[in-house]
Amino acid sequence: MADEELLLDLLNSTPQVAGVEQDLLEQTEAWALTRSRDGRQALAAVRSVLQDVVRGDEPPSALTPFLRDVRQVPTMTADGVTWTLEAPAAHRTVVRVVLAWSELEATKASRLRPCENPECRLFLLDRSKANTARWCSMAVCGNRMKARRHYQAKTRA
Ligand SMILES: [Zn+2]
Repeated sequence: MADEELLLDLLNSTPQVAGVEQDLLEQTEAWALTRSRDGRQALAAVRSVLQDVVRGDEPPSALTPFLRDVRQVPTMTADGVTWTLEAPAAHRTVVRVVLAWSELEATKASRLRPCENPECRLFLLDRSKANTARWCSMAVCGNRMKARRHYQAKTRA
């Protein structure tokens, strides 16, 4: 899985179902790659901070603790220096998502954002040229918000 997708999947792993927040880290086989308890706890912790950072409720510096003990180690080869990322085994996925977020910030700033449906807790990564997507899913939130605006316009009239 591309790290960008991994990041989006993690951000979207706390959907609301009938007004109750779910935790897909505990429920979904897709996260079986982080089978260790430590790994899952660290992922849940970084997820919560990343969600706040993307919503603008926390500064990016709130992610600093998740990069503790992470190092780039140089190795000299025939082609020059190559860099290897070293991170504690249990936190490798955490480091991947933080770096994926940082990469998105650097290359596609503002394309990662919360869904505009206030009842939706999901995020979207806008890949459209115009960068004007507003909902995590046109089929779900887009239609729901349009129907609501239509209803409000009708009841106001
Ligand atoms: Zn949504």
